[in-house]
Amino acid sequence: MSLDSKVNSTDKLQAKRSLEFTEDDSIEITITPNGGACFGVVRAIKLGHQAASKGKSSSTAVYSFGAIVHNPKTIRELEEKGVKTVEESAHVEGGTVILRSHGVRQEIEKDFNNRGIKVVDATCPLVKKPQKIAASLGARGYFLVVVGDANHPEVKGVLSYFGSDNYLVTYKPEDLEKIPCGVEKVGIVAQTTIEVTVLNKIIEACQKRFSDLAVYNTICDATSIRQEEAEVLAQKADILVVVGGKNSSNTNKLVKICKQFQPNTYLIEEVEELEQSWFQGKKKIGVTGGASTPQDYVDLVGERIAEMMTLTMSN
Ligand code: SF4
Repeated sequence: MSLDSKVNSTDKLQAKRSLEFTEDDSIEITITPNGGACFGVVRAIKLGHQAASKGKSSSTAVYSFGAIVHNPKTIRELEEKGVKTVEESAHVEGGTVILRSHGVRQEIEKDFNNRGIKVVDATCPLVKKPQKIAASLGARGYFLVVVGDANHPEVKGVLSYFGSDNYLVTYKPEDLEKIPCGVEKVGIVAQTTIEVTVLNKIIEACQKRFSDLAVYNTICDATSIRQEEAEVLAQKADILVVVGGKNSSNTNKLVKICKQFQPNTYLIEEVEELEQSWFQGKKKIGVTGGASTPQDYVDLVGERIAEMMTLTMSN
């Protein structure tokens, strides 16, 4: 029997975007207002699809240098349209290459240009900002402190614009001891996805030591907004579903935050991973999505849960 034939349309549950649940004991599915892709990711995905279509119509190869976004579903969709993801620049053999949202090292882009490969730059404008600041600090003789993860491609990209070895990448104020004596001019930039408390601790420690300090808060608030919203909803919900790539650091951070307030937190990449048993006896269902997951897909998960709960009610 179909869902429609068992339930009146007026009884159908619907997911809504909000941070609230009503006080009554009705079943509700609430999705955080900003849950899902940020503007940088939306832009990168759009550029990826445009490049794929152009590549198809002109029969030229289209590559993505690294995953455009950390979302396997999106990558798969682009691959189905002919976009080949490669990790080595040497594997781009002509045609068009798309640069991922969190940037690449400057010399890689130069190499593509020198080889006559068409570059579609999907680097988020907010990632370009620390790159430009690093270049300017390098030209002005500053020692650079990057608050972030040295292994993250975004940080590697930023350092490539700095142009000298006078830098330190760290999360920890105690690492500042590694900055050689005699350094007075220090510039600070942050990896866009770092927590502001981490940045503030480094700034505080630097203020005590360096006379010429140039601080640039290059954190993108897309991540913090999503984290704050997830925290609010997790405190009100009986269960939380986080939608995002299992390899996405911002998504995993959301899961960690939600679990602190709601142990019934589940991470899914695909709508098919939802399990009816998770929702048994639950009334207030929260849904959120990482900054690399299209918002439409987060909404789809909300709708699917609403359908499952409607069916449960009618049984
Ligand atoms: S998280 Fe921020 S910096 Fe990263 S792609 Fe999204 S908008 Fe850009």
